[in-house]
Formats: sequence, C-alpha cells, structure tokens
Amino acid sequence: MSAESNHCDPSPDLLKKLDTLQGVGPRMLQKMQKLGLDCIEDALYHLPIRYEDRRQFKKINQLTDNQHEVFVGSVLVSGETVTNRSRRRIYEIIVGDETGKISLKWFRYRSSWLKKRFPVGQKAIFIGEVKRFSAIREIHHPDSELLAVNINLQQLLQSDPCNYGRILPVYPLTDGLSQKQARKIWYQLIGDFAKRTQSYIPEDIRERYNLSLIPEALQQIHWPDSSTELQTLERGRSLARKSLVFDEFFFLELGLALKRAGVQFEEGFSFKLEHKYTIPLSKILPFKLTGAQRSVLGDIKHDMMAPKPMHRLLQGDVGSGKTLVALMAALIAIENQTQVAVIAPTEILAEQHYQTFNTWLNKLGLTTGLLLGNMPAAKKRNLLKSIEQGDIDLVVGTHAVLQQGVEFNRLGLGIVDEQHRFGVRQRSLLKHKGVNPDILVMTATPIPRTLSMTLYGDLSVSVIDELPPGRKAVMTKIYRSSQRQRAYQQIQQELDAGRQAYVVYPLVEESEKSDLQAATSAAESFANKIFPGMRVGLLHGQMKTDDKDAVMDLFRKGDVQLLVSTTVIEVGVDVPNATVMMIEHADRFGLSQLHQLRGRVGRGTEKSYCILIPSEHYSEDASRRLRVMVETNDGFRIAEADLEIRGPGDFLGTRQAGLPEFRVANLLTDVAILENARKEAFDYVEKTQQLSTIEAIPVKKELIRRWGGRLELAAIG
Ligand code: ADP
Ligand code: MG
Repeated sequence: MSAESNHCDPSPDLLKKLDTLQGVGPRMLQKMQKLGLDCIEDALYHLPIRYEDRRQFKKINQLTDNQHEVFVGSVLVSGETVTNRSRRRIYEIIVGDETGKISLKWFRYRSSWLKKRFPVGQKAIFIGEVKRFSAIREIHHPDSELLAVNINLQQLLQSDPCNYGRILPVYPLTDGLSQKQARKIWYQLIGDFAKRTQSYIPEDIRERYNLSLIPEALQQIHWPDSSTELQTLERGRSLARKSLVFDEFFFLELGLALKRAGVQFEEGFSFKLEHKYTIPLSKILPFKLTGAQRSVLGDIKHDMMAPKPMHRLLQGDVGSGKTLVALMAALIAIENQTQVAVIAPTEILAEQHYQTFNTWLNKLGLTTGLLLGNMPAAKKRNLLKSIEQGDIDLVVGTHAVLQQGVEFNRLGLGIVDEQHRFGVRQRSLLKHKGVNPDILVMTATPIPRTLSMTLYGDLSVSVIDELPPGRKAVMTKIYRSSQRQRAYQQIQQELDAGRQAYVVYPLVEESEKSDLQAATSAAESFANKIFPGMRVGLLHGQMKTDDKDAVMDLFRKGDVQLLVSTTVIEVGVDVPNATVMMIEHADRFGLSQLHQLRGRVGRGTEKSYCILIPSEHYSEDASRRLRVMVETNDGFRIAEADLEIRGPGDFLGTRQAGLPEFRVANLLTDVAILENARKEAFDYVEKTQQLSTIEAIPVKKELIRRWGGRLELAAIG
C-alpha cells in the first residue's frame, strides 16, 4: 500500500473539478456535466456499459452473428440505393477483405458526407452488430475509424493502447461526445487517478471474498487486461466489478448495522401488559383477530415490553387488517400512562383513522384527537394544549403532527401508516416528539426481500400473511374505451344490489386541470345520464378539507352510492360495502398504485370487481402492468413484477424512501454479494464495538463521508 493510504481522508485530488484534467475545456466539461459528472471521483465511477474486443482485428469470415464485432475492411462498392420492398432510400457500402464481404447500411444519413467518407478503396475499422438477413451479412449504422491504405495493422495494434490491441471500454455518451473522445479522457483519468483511490474494506474480509483493492478494480473495470474473458466482463461477473459492488454494499450495510446497534443502546419504555383496555376491546370487537394478526401482535408486545425502543415494520397486503393491530398496540401504550401518535400520508386517511380509533377508544373511555394542517386556529390551539397536558390519549394526524409546536406530555408510541409515503426523516422527527418512544411503521407495499433489507435494514419486520376470513380475490378486467357500456352495466348491477362503486381518475395537480375537468364532468354525466337516480359524489385533492370529509362521510354511510374520485382515495380508505371500481386511464398509473387502488374493493365478504380502462394509446410497459393486475391479487407478486418492469432505482421513489442510489451495484442481480456484504458489515460493527476501535477509524470516517446525512449518522459522528 502507498503511504497515502495511511491518512483517511480521500485524496483531495479526487474531489477536484473535471476541468482540472488535461484536455477537458469548458465545452467538454459541459458534456461531462450532462452525464451527471462533477468531480474526478464521479468520473472514476462512470463505468463502461459494454466492451469491445480489439485485441486482434477479426477477418470478415470470423464474425459472429448477433454480436458486436470489430474488423478491418476496404470499401468495394459505395452508393445510395432504393430498397425493392419498402422503396426506402438507403446508403449501402460493401466492404471486403481477403476472406469475404459484408454489407453496411444507413437508413438515416447525409449522402454527401458518407460518399466523401467512404470512396471505393477506403480502408477503415468498422464496429457494429452483425445481422444475417440473407446470404450476405449486414451491419446497420456501423461506427467506423478511417485507416491509411498502406497501414501496418500489427504495428497499429501495438502503438496506441487507448484505441487498439486490447479490450476497450464502451462508455455511456451524450450528444457531441464520441466514443473515441471518451476513451481518450478515461484512459488518462484512470491512469492518473485510479491509484489515488483507497480501499477501506478490512483485509481479512477482502481476502475471504478474494476481492481486489479499489485502485486495481477501477483500473480493471475500465481498462481490463488482455487476459480477461470478454464474456465475464459483458455479464458483469468480473472480479473488478464484484469488488466495487461489495465495497458499495458493505458501506451501506455498515450504516444500517450502526443504526440498528444505536437503537439497542438507547433506553426506551418497558411497557407492561395490563390488559386494562386490550381485553375489553377484544370482547366488543365484532370479529376475532386472524392468526397472522395475533402473531404480529406477539412480536410487537415482545418489543414493547423490552427496555429498548421498538423499531418495527409491519408489512401486510391491502385489507389485511393492520389498523386493528395498531389499535391493540396503542392500547398497550395507553395502559402504561403514555400517549400515542398515529400519522397518515393524506387527510382522508387521517380522518378515517380518527374515526376508527375514536369509535373504539370512546367505548373504552379514552380520548382521541385529530390534528390536520389547515385547522381553524383556535381549534388547533386548544388541541395542542390538550396534547401537551396529556389530556388526549391518542392523536391522529398528517405531517402536521411532526411540526414544531406539537408537544406531547409523554409520547410512548408513534405509529406511521403507509410508511412508503414517508421518508426516513419523518420517522426520525416522530421519534423526537418523545424520549425514545416505540415506533411502529406500517406498509401495504410489500417490498421484495433484497429491497427491504437495504431500505429498512434497521427495522425488524413482521408480516401479516393472511387476510381476514371470507375475502375473495377481486376479479379484474381490462375494457377498451369502446367497451365502456359493458363496464357501466356491471357497475349498475352492483348498485342495484345495494352496493357501492368507485370511479377513479388519475392524479389531479395544479397543472393537470384537464383531469379534474374529466372527473367533474364524468360525475355530472353519471348522475344525470348514465346512472340516473343514483347518488353520485365527487372527491378530489383540491377540495376543502370539510367538503372532502362531508363526501367521504356520505359514502361511508352509503348515502353516496357512486364515488367519482382522483387518487386521493388511493391509500387506506376502508368502505367494505364498495364492490366495484372502475379506473380510467389505467395505463397512467404505476403498478403498486393500481394495487393500492384496487385494494379499496374486496374488503367485505361480497365478490368484488375492478375494471381497468386504458387510454386510446399506451406503452408496452403499461400493457404489462395491466396484465399483471388481471393475473394476480397477490401484493407480493405485484411488487416483484413492478420492480422488474421499473427497475429498482424507480421503485417506491427510492430516493424519498431513503435508499441511496448505487453507482455500480444492482439490487436485482447482485443479491448474493449484498448478502455477504451485509453479514460482514454487521459482524464488523459488532467486532469493533460500533466502529470505535482504532483500526476502524478510517472506515468510520469514510462511512460518514459517503452516506452522511442520508443515513442520519450525525449521532454516531
Ligand atoms: P389495511 O391492512 O389495508 O390497513 P384495514 O386495517 O383497513 O386494512 O382492515 C381492512 C378491513 O378488514 C377493515 O374493514 C377491518 O375492520 C377488517 N378486519 C380487520 N381485521 C379483521 C378480522 N380479524 N376479521 C374480520 N375483519 C377484519
Ligand atoms: Mg390501512
């Protein structure tokens, strides 16, 4: 190791701006910024998307179909032609060497430029994907580099390591940046700077997994040795890549391990099971808890009784009965003379929870408060005062609960519903409303294991894997716009049978007035023309809170039979008598969102229906989403399909959920490495007493540098 690796700050050179590099002027800088690159370290991690084998030039008869190939040839024929079948103009050159011929075609081109570039006799290197359509093979829109006619190829291969005689990186580009320019920049960059990076993974771990040091890994991933297998590189299985991925995961998991350890060292409430309210509640409930509800409640009780604060994630598909579990947990906290806060992402859901909790708490002689952002000032002041004095046992609210000025007398338990709508920050704000209160977060969005490990690695997880008895899968169909009448008939049938229906339109935002208009005029035409005699309500995000409440109330009571709504009803709303939902422009919704929406029906014992009506034109991805909805009701499978269609970066809006973006790693394909890195990181945190030993100092500093704010490491800094 070099002397540099003894001090633990990253080499300041790596944080230098890119225009300090030779050959990067203002224009090149702009292009690199377009690629999201700011400093030298960013550029070191701007990795090739493919590789090109230029160890030798292949002969034309050695080229393999359907592969990117590189070869040298001379132009035999060059000119514009018109295809027989489609009568399209194309530019074609036929290129040959002593072993054969191949046809190169352009469909979009400037004729004069090509003519000048490729006169008969011109020698060049050609690069592209080889296709076989007929006897003679073709490459469409090849790349090329011109050569002098009398060039000595063997000399060329040895003379210019940035372009020939090796496996070359192929970089993601942007307008005006050519592959050749990129190679030149990254050749110099890696040569100068890869060696200044440092490896922080402890040696014994590195040896156990046979990992390279970071400088070596960066060198090899950009400019691999000639002995490397091209296939290994192309499949992302190289040792270099594995080493970089491990490094990335290791530091992520270190952060999570530290957070988890930190929680265990705090002192929290040790609640006792008094049964003062829990047993009376179970006597008045109209149903028995499901086995799954009882089992997760067991986990929660165990955590609440322990002297350290609970940090538990309760995961359960839509309609699995999470609210009831939350209610039982709340009663335990209240039995121990502490208060409870429940936060929900929307006012409608907060309002509904308020009603649920209030109904039961009222019967037990307890008090509930509802705190929203835009309450009348006097009302709010009174409420805040009662919360502070401890007169209110349980407060339900939106983000408003997390704001300054909301003080609890003694907060014992914080509950976050629909956790995926909140970030890590909100969880932490809630925690600071008390002295290490227990925290229970709930989500209906089932998270594939790889993601939940990284997203919620600091939480313990309980899963409700069973629905209340009598639930039937919601029958889901896709109707074209032209089949709308059939959809109406089906809704009419349900309404006639005394049940209720939802019609949902895509999200209304300020800028999307037209959607609001669509919802509004649909509501009118439902009431007047399509379902005359039925009571129709309209609900959207721009209505005043009181108006929203009034409509929801009517719907809950059954006075409104058909509710036309934007996605404000997406999460949590619970009206078991609603048995049919029609979703307009269903192609515009994400898969998790569709599943959430559909979860509003099928909540009682009656058979329920979901009708998806896509727009006239929609993408292939949208069509895959809709098919998944028809095929399954299983939230877990839907989440996995969603992850597949969207890719992990986009899933859940991961940035908001607190998941860092990875530079190298891929959560879908690198699971095995993730699991090893996680195990080692957790062991290391334990072995070094939360990174407090001397050997761990550089690791800890690097950890804080990388993840700092995002993992809330301030406390351990
Ligand atoms: P979610 O998990 O989606 O938040 P809810 O807590 O809103 O689900 O519950 C969905 C519905 O199931 C509610 O109407 C609730 O009263 C009902 N429910 C909950 N637990 C049971 C049970 N054990 N038996 C029957 N119905 C139940
Ligand atoms: Mg819910």
